[in-house]
Amino acid sequence: MLKFKCRDVGFDCGWTAKGKTEDEILAQCAAHATKDHNMKPEEITEELKGKIKSNIHKSWF
Ligand SMILES: [Zn+2]
Repeated sequence: MLKFKCRDVGFDCGWTAKGKTEDEILAQCAAHATKDHNMKPEEITEELKGKIKSNIHKSWF
């Protein structure tokens, strides 16, 4: 299981993504960012995706 905390990329937010692959997490992040942070899809840049990827952690829970 992989986990990602929105807070780890600088948002004041308690949302966490869980998934089996990085792509799953990124898809959840894109949906969350557009829905809950009013971000436009074009604002989810390769740079932001890289930031997200480097903050994805393995979790056994
Ligand atoms: Zn968030």
